[in-house]
Amino acid sequence: MPELPEVEVLRRSLEPHLVGEEVARVEVRSPALREPLDRASLDRGVAGRRIESLGRRAKYLLVDLSGGSTLAVHLGMSGRLTLAPADAAPEPHEHLAIHLASGKKLRLRDPRRFGLAFALPTAELPADRHFAHLGIEPLSEGFSGEALARAARGRRGPVKVFLMDATAVVGVGNIYACEALFRAGVHPGRSVARISRPRWDRLADSVVAVLSQAIAEGGTTLNDFRNGSGESGYFQVSLAVYGREGDPCLGCGTPVRRSVHSNRGTFYCPRCQR
Ligand SMILES: [Zn+2]
Repeated sequence: MPELPEVEVLRRSLEPHLVGEEVARVEVRSPALREPLDRASLDRGVAGRRIESLGRRAKYLLVDLSGGSTLAVHLGMSGRLTLAPADAAPEPHEHLAIHLASGKKLRLRDPRRFGLAFALPTAELPADRHFAHLGIEPLSEGFSGEALARAARGRRGPVKVFLMDATAVVGVGNIYACEALFRAGVHPGRSVARISRPRWDRLADSVVAVLSQAIAEGGTTLNDFRNGSGESGYFQVSLAVYGREGDPCLGCGTPVRRSVHSNRGTFYCPRCQR
């Protein structure tokens, strides 16, 4: 499953090719995605408009168009968004092609069909049902220990589950959560109600560092979204704890432990993480 760093790398790699382009027409080849593609709405909201910028919210790629319209694309489990020449033959599982006036097309391929693509007025985005529940964005200006502490107010349960809960913080997948907690020296099972402000600060810094490292690596390994431990969607990050059960902690030599939170394997050092 594509993770946040993968979507961010996609955004950065498409941006220089798309900004300023005009959309000639929208071709819905097969509407059957998680929510059926809405031909009329895509025509209205995308065709004939100019691409002004590419943004991202959580794992949604946001194509901002002239006239206050946005095309939102989610890659689901297996979606791929690529640029091709206009006359390239359609690929298997190609659901949508956005034809650009300059003779290229942006196509969405999705064999498992968990992806989404829809147009909406840009101003309605924050309140839209796909976005309204989403938590804080770790790569945004406002992300900080204070923002994490605020998001945790009134919540309970292990900090690892909190970090992976998209209604609290978006885009922190299992591997990234394990690695960020290790870097911050915070035990994954510690209750969110019992985390001091300096710890939240360290955790915020660690989340940003881990995601940034993944994005930097992703820029160089675009074709391989499978990490060494077999969880797909993750760029290669140097794994200090994830997948290293029983191996010595890189900080203190204590064997790395594995436990389970919300059905996901959690790896941590019982000595360095408190
Ligand atoms: Zn250790």
